[in-house]
Amino acid sequence: MSYTIPITKVETSKVDTLDFNNIPLGTTFTDHMFICDYENGEWVNPRIVPMGLIPTHPAAMALHYGQAIFEGMKAYKDTDGEPMLFRPEQNAKRLNKSADRMGMPNFPEDLFVEGLKELVSLEHNWIPPKEGSALYLRPFMYADEPFIGMRAATHYKFIIMASPAGPFFSKRIKLWAEKQFIRAAHGGTGEAKAAGNYAAAIRPTELAKAKGYDQVLWLDAAEHKYIQEVGTMNIFFKINGEFITPKLDGSVLDGITRKSVIDVLRDKGFKVTERLITLEEVKEASHNGTLEEAFGAGTAVGIAYIQEIGLEGETIQVSDQSPIGLEVNDTLNAIKTGQIEDKFGWMLKTRKELA
Ligand SMILES: *Cc1c(COP(=O)(O)O)cnc(C)c1O
Repeated sequence: MSYTIPITKVETSKVDTLDFNNIPLGTTFTDHMFICDYENGEWVNPRIVPMGLIPTHPAAMALHYGQAIFEGMKAYKDTDGEPMLFRPEQNAKRLNKSADRMGMPNFPEDLFVEGLKELVSLEHNWIPPKEGSALYLRPFMYADEPFIGMRAATHYKFIIMASPAGPFFSKRIKLWAEKQFIRAAHGGTGEAKAAGNYAAAIRPTELAKAKGYDQVLWLDAAEHKYIQEVGTMNIFFKINGEFITPKLDGSVLDGITRKSVIDVLRDKGFKVTERLITLEEVKEASHNGTLEEAFGAGTAVGIAYIQEIGLEGETIQVSDQSPIGLEVNDTLNAIKTGQIEDKFGWMLKTRKELA
C-alpha cells in the first residue's frame, strides 16, 4: 500500500544549534516527528509535524495501565552521505509482536517503514557525520484514550522521534548477577519491548550501580540460575571457541543486534549456539580458562565487552584475550555505513531526493 504523508515543516531548523562534536545524550531532538492516530479500529492521519508537546488527558490509559511499547534503531550515512536504515522491517515486526502481547493494535509494517524513511530523509542534516555516530530513532505506541477502567484502550498514538547520538566509547563493563529482582518470567512480558519492563528494571539497576557495577545481569525468575540478558542488551559468551547466547524462550528480548551478530559470527565461520546457559557454567569456564570473551549486544552501544560478573561473595573474571566481538562490531558498523558490501541485504536507503 502506498501512503500520503503530509509534511508540515518548521520555519527554521534548529540543526545549526547542535554541536556535532559534543552531542548530549538523549536530550536533543530533530525538528520534526511522525505521528499517526488509531481510532474506530484503524490507523488514520499519518503526518509529519514540528516536534512539540502533545496534549494528553490525565486519564490517558497509558499513564495508568501501562499500554506503552517502543522500538529503538539508528539511521546512518553511507560513504556518499546517503541516509540508510538498518533492518527497519525487523523493528516493525517486533513492535507488532510487543503490541500483540500488550493487547494493542498492530501498526501497518509498510507504513512504519515509510514513516521512518520520510522522517529520516527530511532530517538527513541531523545525522551526525562522525564515525560511530548516528541518528537514533524512537518509534513508540501508547494508549491515549481517557478512561478509568481495566480493558484495552480504543485510541492510540504511534509516534517516531529522532535524536542525534554521538559515538559511544564503550569500556569493558562490570555486571551484577541479580538474584533478588527479576526482569522477566515465563508467561510475562519479557519478550515485549514494553515500557513497564524498564520501569521495573530501574531500581535494581540503581542498586547494582551503588555497588559499583555498570549493569544488571538478569537471571531466570524461577531458579535464578539461567542467564537471560544484560541491562537492555542481549548477551554472548565465547567458551572453548564456540559462541553461546541464551535462546529466545519467551523471557528474552529478540534483539536485532543479537540476530545480526549471530549471522555475522556464522559467516565468519564460528559456531553459534542458542541454548540455556547457567551462571554456574560461565563460572566454571572462567575458572578453567575456557571463557574467552563475553559481550552485550544492542542497538544503543553495539557491542559492550564484559570485564567481570559480580555475585554475592565472589567475582567471575572474563578474559579480554579474544577480540571477535570487536571484529563483529566493526563489520556491522562497516555495513551500516556502506563501507563494505551489504551481503546480507540489511540496509535500506531512505532518500528520494536530498533537499
Ligand atoms: C532493545 C533491547 C535489546 C536489544 O535489541 P536491539 O534490537 O538489538 O537493539 C535487548 N534487550 C532488551 C531488554 C531490550 O529492550
